[in-house]
Amino acid sequence: MKNIVVIGSGLAGTLLCNELSKTAHITLLEKGKKDFISYPNLTFKRKKLAPFNTFCFSGGGGSNLWHNGLIPIGIEDVVSTQFSALLKATEPYTDQAAAMLNFTGEYSKDYSDVVAEMNKLAMSLGDFTDGVDCLIYPKKYTKLTVNDQVDAHYSVSKINFVSTQGTISKVTYIQDNEEKSVEADLVIIAAGTYSTPELVKRALSANNINANNLGRGLIDHPAGFVGKVKFSSDVAKSINKFSSLDKGHFESCTGMRIKSDCGKYTCFAFLRPAFTMGNHLSIYQYKSLLGGSSGLERIKNALSPKLFHPDILVEVVSHVLGVSIPSSTFNILVYFQQHQGSNSVDYDSNTHTINWDVSSQELEIYNDLLTKLDEKLSQFALKTNIMQPIDGEWLRSGAHHSGTISLGDDEPEQIDDNLKLNGCNNLYICDGSVIQEHSYANTGLTIGKLALRLSAHLTNLKV
Ligand SMILES: Cc1cc2nc3c(=O)[nH]c(=O)nc-3n(C[C@H](O)[C@H](O)[C@H](O)COP(=O)(O)OP(=O)(O)OC[C@H]3O[C@@H](n4cnc5c(N)ncnc54)[C@H](O)[C@@H]3O)c2cc1C
Repeated sequence: MKNIVVIGSGLAGTLLCNELSKTAHITLLEKGKKDFISYPNLTFKRKKLAPFNTFCFSGGGGSNLWHNGLIPIGIEDVVSTQFSALLKATEPYTDQAAAMLNFTGEYSKDYSDVVAEMNKLAMSLGDFTDGVDCLIYPKKYTKLTVNDQVDAHYSVSKINFVSTQGTISKVTYIQDNEEKSVEADLVIIAAGTYSTPELVKRALSANNINANNLGRGLIDHPAGFVGKVKFSSDVAKSINKFSSLDKGHFESCTGMRIKSDCGKYTCFAFLRPAFTMGNHLSIYQYKSLLGGSSGLERIKNALSPKLFHPDILVEVVSHVLGVSIPSSTFNILVYFQQHQGSNSVDYDSNTHTINWDVSSQELEIYNDLLTKLDEKLSQFALKTNIMQPIDGEWLRSGAHHSGTISLGDDEPEQIDDNLKLNGCNNLYICDGSVIQEHSYANTGLTIGKLALRLSAHLTNLKV
């Protein structure tokens, strides 16, 4: 039986452990506690990611904070041929990944049926040249946990690697103040977009390779409420179906896709019930804070007079009562696309330094996209009030951190098409860090598909 060490039990790590433990001996090394969430120390060099926590340490990782919305990254929106080939190779794992992420039923069929239904509805309203897409929310939620077959170790620190001629033989770590080690035939780093580059750096340095580009290429979805739109009551009936559609075992939330003139950027605009037509940045920021926080943090954030703003009350009532309030006025929430550029993460002793912002070129493209959105909505709306031009203040992280490990053959710190690190013979990377492009799509389903494809590859690999 192969000995496989998985580092990190977030979304990717948990699926990897559970799948690989069917045929191999798995040791999990997780920095967080099993059932307790802690947050990393963060320093922001430029823009703060968001007013709420966008990642954490704990068994289950980011899935402790997420909303479980499942959507694929559309291959037609991806520019890089190498990454689109990788995404295509993960397609056979879609239904299995969705099932492991709480979806009951056949995801691919349910997703394509609801997208077709919503596209038909959209075409009956006006010119939706770029179409619509749907986020699918399973109705049943269970926490992601590793199964009992996995030899799981929590609260570990100072992970390091013993390597000979490019092959890692042992992973060392500290637990309960004791130095420990585990033998490894294969190692998978799944510590998330912000922590994985540091572990890769240590693995390469165990092979005497100094890597300079680690942590570069960070991408996210700059997202924000950017305006309001009002429809006649007839049109509003259809738009309420976009906002939320009950499909029995899942709920769908439909957004308008808008592509930039250059074709490289695609954004996604959701319409959420509102009451007023006013645009107030502080109210939008408060709405994002409430929507993005969870548990005790959300209750604390609710203690604000802003809770009683009519636009917030509509959203709160629909969330708390689990019903969508029929409305003819809607908030516009847009998820914009970023491409890999100068954003990065660095890790120094115990602090993640995050160097993230929205560039002026991106802002220009986003404002063009908003003009297009306004034109499209104006075809069938009574009134629009979209903020233009927006600046970076209107945008925060969509919490879909990705891209800090790059795909390619040139550098030792890059990964190949099987997610193997070029500089090591038996080290693989699998988590949000390997996603090179994500249009507007939430990343969870793609991370799950990548994890299952890697599991299949490693199961068949001779060591
Ligand atoms: C508020 C919010 C809502 C979201 N909603 C959605 C949604 O609806 N749909 C969707 O698809 N996505 C959503 N996301 C994003 C989603 O949660 C993440 O994309 C996903 O969890 C990332 O998975 P991962 O495996 O890459 O990393 P993570 O889940 O972050 O896992 C990394 C794991 O590694 C551990 N770790 C870190 N450093 C070390 C180390 N040095 N040694 C050992 N272990 C380590 C961490 O503790 C963690 O368990 C949301 C995120 C947030 C914050």
